[in-house]
Amino acid sequence: MNIHEYQAKTLLEKYGVAVPRGIAAMSVEEAVKAAESLPGPLYVVKSQIHAGGRGAGHFTDKPSGKGGVRLCKSAEEVRDAAQAMLGNILVTKQTGAGGKEVQRLYVTDGVDIQKEYYCSVVMDRATSRVTFMVSTEGGMDIEDVAEKTPEKIIRVGIDPATGMMPFHARKLAFGLALSGDALKSATRFFMALYKAFVDLDAAIVEINPMIVTDKNDVMALDAKMTFDDNALFRQKDVAAMRDESEEDEKERQAHEYDLSYVALDGNIGCMVNGAGLAMATMDIIKLYGGEPANFLDVGGGATTEKVTAAFKIILSDKNVKGILVNIFGGIMRCDVIADGIVAAARDVSLDVPLVVRLEGTNVDQGKEILAKSGLPIIAADDLADAARKIVDATGKAQAA
Ligand code: ADP
Ligand code: MG
Repeated sequence: MNIHEYQAKTLLEKYGVAVPRGIAAMSVEEAVKAAESLPGPLYVVKSQIHAGGRGAGHFTDKPSGKGGVRLCKSAEEVRDAAQAMLGNILVTKQTGAGGKEVQRLYVTDGVDIQKEYYCSVVMDRATSRVTFMVSTEGGMDIEDVAEKTPEKIIRVGIDPATGMMPFHARKLAFGLALSGDALKSATRFFMALYKAFVDLDAAIVEINPMIVTDKNDVMALDAKMTFDDNALFRQKDVAAMRDESEEDEKERQAHEYDLSYVALDGNIGCMVNGAGLAMATMDIIKLYGGEPANFLDVGGGATTEKVTAAFKIILSDKNVKGILVNIFGGIMRCDVIADGIVAAARDVSLDVPLVVRLEGTNVDQGKEILAKSGLPIIAADDLADAARKIVDATGKAQAA
């Protein structure tokens, strides 16, 4: 799950990560009021969308105008900036061409920047360690730095047995060639960031730019945080920050029904129980020359409700030309699953080919239910048979 910059900064501040003062605003009036309550004389109005590159982005109504992060010198300028942003579509490198509508703003103190740096904390799966990455090349696209000058990114992995120690933080700060007060401030900053990352079950914290101010204080000028969805049950404050208007509608619905769903580019919708089986199903579709339209794991307890929701989500993708259901009835019985498929197929008035492969407990009853349903369901005997049949059926559907 992702959150907005202003939300991330609120969380980080509680852990002692320094951030400029700022207030979120949902309307132009609120933005002006926010500016009036800040000391000035410089303000920054920042569009809050779940995407980076806002500063260098543009609004669709004024393609050659200013971007989604604007420096203002008075409350009046804040009003103009807020008016230009709210309700308009901001396009950045990360939003795709369609852009995103700005519904929230963040009005913050303008800070005197001595230098911008890059800092992120991620889970490195190769070493199984929480890992810091810092660079003197802040404020710009870190992907470019990683590609062209990878030596400019310093990595420090944290041993989970010790947690973050001051020497880790100093190693990072020395890597950025900091000294004196900036070094001390950076050390505190990294320690606080680590604690926030671990305590909040974050998956990514990215501070770009992290800055040293004219007074040698280290601060987070931008903040992006992503959380582990599986930990949200114990992170109620974080879960409450969810902004559904920022999420892909299909993925949002899937979340509501506790389905693991990822949209892909192909045309064969997949409904499978178990992540491993879902991966195998996608592989075999590709082996037979097809392209999966999604990854979808309905989980162990696939009820009729869940199966119906899954069908609806798959079919709301206009690229889907056929569906392959591949379910192993272990805990779930195949007859129950078959009932679910029949009910769901009727409910959504299915109009694309549907291939079903069932295996496991009560498989014969399950197959009988499908056969007797009168629905044009294509039954398959095994995984290869199922993949071949759905690739054939969608190939024909495309030709028609
Ligand atoms: P994005 O990464 O989405 O473009 P940032 O928050 O990183 O948004 O802002 C872009 C740039 O705007 C920063 O690199 C920084 O130079 C400037 N900026 C952002 N916030 C402030 C601030 N509070 N004071 C001064 N400059 C700022
Ligand atoms: Mg940034």
